[in-house]
Amino acid sequence: MSAVLCRSCGEPLARTVCDLGLSPVSNAFVRAENLSSGETFYPLKVMVCDRCLLAQLASSLPADTHFHSDYAYFSSFSNSWLQHSERYAQSMISRLGLGNESKVLEVASNDGYLLQFFVERGIPALGIEPTASTAAAARNKGVDTREIFFGRNSAERLAEEGWKVDLLIGNNVLAHVPDINDFVGGLPLVLNPEGVVTFEFPHLLKLIELNQFDTIYHEHYYYLSLTALLPVFARVNLRVFDVEKLTTHGGSLRLYLCHARASHLEAPAVQARAMEEQAIGLTSAERLAGFGRNVERIKRELLAFLIGAANGGQQVAAYGAAAKGNTLLNYCGVRDDMIAFVADKNPAKQGRFLPGSRIPVVAPDEIEHRRPDYLLILPWNIKEEIMLQNGGIRAWGGQFVVPIPSLEILP
Ligand SMILES: [Zn+2]
Repeated sequence: MSAVLCRSCGEPLARTVCDLGLSPVSNAFVRAENLSSGETFYPLKVMVCDRCLLAQLASSLPADTHFHSDYAYFSSFSNSWLQHSERYAQSMISRLGLGNESKVLEVASNDGYLLQFFVERGIPALGIEPTASTAAAARNKGVDTREIFFGRNSAERLAEEGWKVDLLIGNNVLAHVPDINDFVGGLPLVLNPEGVVTFEFPHLLKLIELNQFDTIYHEHYYYLSLTALLPVFARVNLRVFDVEKLTTHGGSLRLYLCHARASHLEAPAVQARAMEEQAIGLTSAERLAGFGRNVERIKRELLAFLIGAANGGQQVAAYGAAAKGNTLLNYCGVRDDMIAFVADKNPAKQGRFLPGSRIPVVAPDEIEHRRPDYLLILPWNIKEEIMLQNGGIRAWGGQFVVPIPSLEILP
């Protein structure tokens, strides 16, 4: 068997961070008419490179497997994300002094949720979005959008057309690109000499600190840190000059980059974040490899709870048919013998079954009808919102359960 090579530096990968076994693709919800058919399971294992410390999946799916879900995610459906985006646009417009002579480019621009705030201020903006349905929604908002993938080749063509930009945005896209060197290599080609790139991504530090292993799924090739990204950027003569911590997606980082020779001064935050990563062990492949033990402990806690409830004749239901729930349930080997149903507000998911575990997805009003003793909250990042919306379960003595960072029963 030939070794898997690091997607950043090419070193053979030798160290496992955590091994979640086999799992179907997290967004492949099963229709009722397909219940008698099988599903394809793929390995879900994170390894870390001993040389450059990039945490990454050990294997990847065939290229056409990712985008087969028949509903697309529209960023504009989330109010809190829209507010986050508008604040970002306002702060960048004033920080960089952007006006109608400037240019802005966003990669993975989705439905124009962010670029609309630049367009409405008269700042020329272009979105890059390969998903046709979201790209069409962006054009309806007046956001010019190209249905292409970003990389060296497409960046060269954009530059030839005059797209040299003052601000280049990539929110939650880095973890999804199969060839990180080709993607990052395109950035300098479309960036003005004093232009700025910003990237937002869930921070590996939070994943390790809060046991967020259920954010591992096949669509996320990388689990990112400043430590592992610095060499990727340095290879194409980009440097990080500022970093902000964000609360989005359980704890994210926003990096600010520029050409190595640009005049932007490095903020003290860059060194401070690097020190934090060192303190929690992100600069040590050996320490990262210890994370697998926490993951195994959470599995035992959840199974002990579910077995106890089943033995006591109590019903457990779940809330939120999110991707992270699928990683958790499949890793723990839970089916509808342990969790009766999962409630979700998205009508496109209702009437279907979770991939692998085959737990039925129902509308939230089913909670009221079936009165479960426990409601297991799968998207822990919005647990306050879910507890507020489903507080009615307390009327029959129902309790909330959160499995991560460690199992907790909340009255
Ligand atoms: Zn490497």
